[in-house]
Amino acid sequence: MSVSFGAGSVAGLANVLDAHGISRAIVLTTPEQEELGRRIMDSLGDRAVGLYPKARMHVPTDVADDAIRQARELGADACVAVGGGSTIGLGKAIALRSDLPIIAVPTTYAGSEMTPVWGLTSDGAKKTGRDRRVLPTAVVYDPELTLTLPLKPSLESGVNAIAHAVEALYAPDASPIISLMAEEAIRALRIALPALRADLGDLEAREHALYGSWLAGACLGATTMGLHHKICHVLGGTLDLPHASTHAVLLPHVFAFNAEAAPGAARAVARALDVDVDDAAKGLASFVTSLGVTSSLRELGVQESEIGFAPAAVVETLYSNPRPVTEADVETIIHAALQGALPLGVTR
Ligand code: NAD
Repeated sequence: MSVSFGAGSVAGLANVLDAHGISRAIVLTTPEQEELGRRIMDSLGDRAVGLYPKARMHVPTDVADDAIRQARELGADACVAVGGGSTIGLGKAIALRSDLPIIAVPTTYAGSEMTPVWGLTSDGAKKTGRDRRVLPTAVVYDPELTLTLPLKPSLESGVNAIAHAVEALYAPDASPIISLMAEEAIRALRIALPALRADLGDLEAREHALYGSWLAGACLGATTMGLHHKICHVLGGTLDLPHASTHAVLLPHVFAFNAEAAPGAARAVARALDVDVDDAAKGLASFVTSLGVTSSLRELGVQESEIGFAPAAVVETLYSNPRPVTEADVETIIHAALQGALPLGVTR
C-alpha cells in the first residue's frame, strides 16, 4: 500500500493512478459527495471512465451488485473511493467480487482504508469478513477534503477512530508497535477534536485528526476487535443506525466495563488522555461528553422494544474480549447506553 498524506495531496491523485498503472478508474461517492466526485473525475482526465454516486451506509448488497455491473460495463480497471467508510466499503465490496484495486481518498476519520475488513448488509443483517483483496492499493489523505465534514460527524467519527485504538490496546493479537500507535492515535485525537469543536476550519487540527485516524485505522486492520465493535455492529446493522454516532454512544460504556480487566490498556488510555492512571474510564467518559456528541441510543431513535434481540446476538458470536461477557452484561451496557446514563462504575 502506498500512502500520501498532507494538505493538497489530492492534487497528486492522477500521479498515484499512473504509478499503479490505472487508466480506467470508476469514481465512487455517496449522493451527498457527488460534486466532489465530479471534481476528482475532472482532475483525473481520461483516467476516469465513470462516476457511481450511490454509496450507502453498511453497503447494501443491491447497491454493491449495481456498482459491480456498472464497473464491468465501463471496463473499469480500478475504483477510486472518495468519502467515508460507506464509500470505501462499497469499493471493498466491488474488489471482493471483481479483484479491482481500490485507491482510497478518505474524507472522514472512520479508518476503513487501512483495513482488509469488508462488510455487506442484506435483509437487515450485516456480514463482515477479512480478505487481503479489499485492502486499498493506495491511500491519499488530504485534510482539506475533511474541511466540509460538519461538526457532529467530525467529532463522532473521531470517537469512532478512538474506539479502534482502545480495542486494539486490549486485543488478543495486540503487539508493542500496535499499542504504541494506538496510544498515539488517542493522544492525537484528544488534542485535535476539542480544537475542531472550537474551530471546524482549523486545518492544522484537521490534519492532526486525520493523522490520528490513520493510526487508529492501522490498529483496526492489525488486530481483532472486542465487545465494543461487536455491540455497534449488531445494533448498527440490524437497526440501521448511524455508524459513528453509535460508536460515540457506546464507547464510554464498554470501556468502563473492560478497563479493570485490561490494566495495560487502561494505563495507555490514561496517558493518552493525560488523566490519572486510575481514572482511565472516567477520563474517557468525560472526554467524550465534553465533545457534545450523541450520548444516548434514544437520541438515535432507538426504542426499548427494539433492543431485546441484541444481548444474545452479541454473545453468540463475540470476537474476543478481555473480560468474560454474559448476556446480562450486554443488556446492562445497552440499557445504560439507551438512556445516556453514566457508564458502570463511573462517577461524576
Ligand atoms: P459515511 O461514510 O457513512 O459518511 C457519512 C455521511 O457523511 C455521508 O453522507 C457522506 O457522504 C458524508 N461525508 C463524508 N465525508 C464528508 C466530508 N468530508 N464532507 C461532507 N460530508 C462528508 O460515514 P463513516 O462513519 O465514515 O463510515 C461508516 C461506515 O463505514 C459504516 O458502514 C461502517 O461499518 C464502515 N466502516 C468500515 C470499516 C472497515 O474496516 N471495514 C472501518 C470503519 C467504518
